[in-house]
Amino acid sequence: MNSTINVGFIGNPNCGKTTLFNAYTGANLKVANWPGVTVEKKEGHTTYENETFKLIDLPGIYSLSSYTMEETVSRQCIMSDEIDVIVNVVDASCLERNLYLTLQLIELGKPVILALNMMDVVEERGMEIDFHRLPEMLGIPAVPVSARKKTGLSILMHTVAHHKTELRQSPLIHHHPGKHSFHVHNHHDEFTMVYEDYIEDKIDSVIKALEEKYPELPVKRWHAIKYLEFDTDVMSRYPLSIENIAERSYEKDIINQKYDFLEEIVSEVLVNKSEKAASTDKIDSYLTSRYLGLPIFLLIMAFVFFLTFTVGDWMKGYFEICLVHFTDFAAGCLSSIHADPMLSSLILDGIIAGVGGILTFLPNIFILFLALAVLEDSGYMARVAFIMDGIMSRLGLSGRAFLPLLLGFGCTVPAIMASRALENPKDRFKTILITPFMSCSARLPVYVLFSSMFFGKNAMLVCYSLYLSGIIIAIATAYVLCKIDGSKAEHALLIELPEYKSPNVHTIAIYVWEKVKDYLSKAGTVIFIASVIMWGILNFGPSGYVTDISQSFGSLIGKVVSPLFEPVGLGYWQIVVALIAGIAAKEVVVSSCSVLFGIQNITSSSGMSSMVSALGAIGFGAANAYALMVFCLLYVPCAASIAVMKRELGSSGKTALIILYQLSVAWLMSFIAYHAGLLLS
Ligand code: GDP
Ligand code: MG
Repeated sequence: MNSTINVGFIGNPNCGKTTLFNAYTGANLKVANWPGVTVEKKEGHTTYENETFKLIDLPGIYSLSSYTMEETVSRQCIMSDEIDVIVNVVDASCLERNLYLTLQLIELGKPVILALNMMDVVEERGMEIDFHRLPEMLGIPAVPVSARKKTGLSILMHTVAHHKTELRQSPLIHHHPGKHSFHVHNHHDEFTMVYEDYIEDKIDSVIKALEEKYPELPVKRWHAIKYLEFDTDVMSRYPLSIENIAERSYEKDIINQKYDFLEEIVSEVLVNKSEKAASTDKIDSYLTSRYLGLPIFLLIMAFVFFLTFTVGDWMKGYFEICLVHFTDFAAGCLSSIHADPMLSSLILDGIIAGVGGILTFLPNIFILFLALAVLEDSGYMARVAFIMDGIMSRLGLSGRAFLPLLLGFGCTVPAIMASRALENPKDRFKTILITPFMSCSARLPVYVLFSSMFFGKNAMLVCYSLYLSGIIIAIATAYVLCKIDGSKAEHALLIELPEYKSPNVHTIAIYVWEKVKDYLSKAGTVIFIASVIMWGILNFGPSGYVTDISQSFGSLIGKVVSPLFEPVGLGYWQIVVALIAGIAAKEVVVSSCSVLFGIQNITSSSGMSSMVSALGAIGFGAANAYALMVFCLLYVPCAASIAVMKRELGSSGKTALIILYQLSVAWLMSFIAYHAGLLLS
């Protein structure tokens, strides 16, 4: 018979669910080496021996509690009729960490099949897993696969087809050395996970109460365990008074006993522990150490900027030469066809100067993301979240909030979306509020240009200081909010650290290409349009087409607003117009400067020196430049992030509040930066 079997892929973040899903479905979903990437579930189909399988890729989770959005999404999905068979994908090279979720899944009372992924890594490391003992102890089938090498794929689907209705587990054989049970029932040949007697007694009592009140409720044992854990979701769904059974939450006991059992499993099943695990531990004793962890992180980030500047600038030089040639070529073409001067101006001063200027920053962006991708794929970024957990919890945020913040260095838009991984709305609001202070890559061109123009050799240092200021302001904001509402991070970060591995070229290539593509498409759309609009408002005024820019609409608008910016050293109408235009996208601040000051190839050294003299002529110096960079760092994020912010918060009021806050902070900080700069210079 040809029926569809609904299969849910579930497992810890990073265990290869998406890779496995892609291997079956030929889809090209984003594979990533950090938690929180797959927040929404994805579906696809595959067939095997006349049977159709609907595969569902679920967000990665460490446990089945309902503290986080991913946990809630996954839990609801696997509990529902939507899924017939659970395929629990585990990273076989880190069994102990991965099997915790397995024990919870088995308790759900649905068919579970263990897919032991990353077998290539297991073999490469010379580890050995006892494939007979493992199913004996867990009571579920275990199939070795490698999603990356595409091995074991058909056997896995074969097993799924065979076990789709198998609710009874295979024979369970436990030894439990040194444990004697006086519990009325001997559950050891019935359930994989048997708790200590005092918990089992309580489970029995809750089941009895449930049988009276909710006779229809399926998997009562699982529900009973959730009651003992004081799980809010189950408790509100099926109210039951259990005060006389459980006077406190037994969550800790239940977790600990599961881990005890896991230790037992791993000691019996894992024959050769890998040397790599040992070396990971050793490296981690430095990288995640209490005192060294943070300084090492800061050093690594400094090195990333060093690369972004040195190698990036070196490559940028070639891009600039190309741009100069292209501009000359275009100018030649335009004059040979005797193009209208207005059209020539639009193409040369508007589009090529604007979009082309932005494109020359591609190497810096490329290097930045390459470095971040390597750090991430090697497993270091997960450590960073771990290192930051302590600091974050003092700010009333969970360590999880650090991940969106980290993404913020790339682009604020996905970073704000990643805040979905946070459990409570207050945490999410806070995270969304401070994420834009993480300096996104769109701000890099502004820093590169203005710091090279005004700070020469110290440009890199200036740039690093801006990134740091962003972080410090974010931390300060969170700290103040935490003091105001007195909130405490409730849940410790349940993040377990993947082993270090050499980064995968393919994964990194996809990641970097995606960022480069985003940047290019942004240059082709938002920046293109913004450049044209800028050109328009600078070349037209109340009297029509104007050749004198000071008669243009742009100048009129800028002059109205500029007094507001006088105190912070930015009271120049050109700068104000550039900042307003920068709301479209931060790079536009750079591209509009070239249009505003009529400088072609602004990023080349000749372009920069004419820009410096143009700015100098209006009295704009180093202190003003620093204030400008600080303002760019802190003021409202780009239009796209504002839209996402509003969507994620579901409130225009809150979004407006955030924008207002950011504008005020930006104004205040650039005020301080400007006056400090004046004193120093
Ligand atoms: P998910 O978070 O569970 O969806 O995990 P992903 O599918 O995004 O994979 C995380 C990382 O593990 C990626 O770098 C993959 O390339 C890598 N990976 C996945 N499966 C395998 C495998 O079977 N062997 C090896 N060596 N790496 C794998
Ligand atoms: Mg995934």
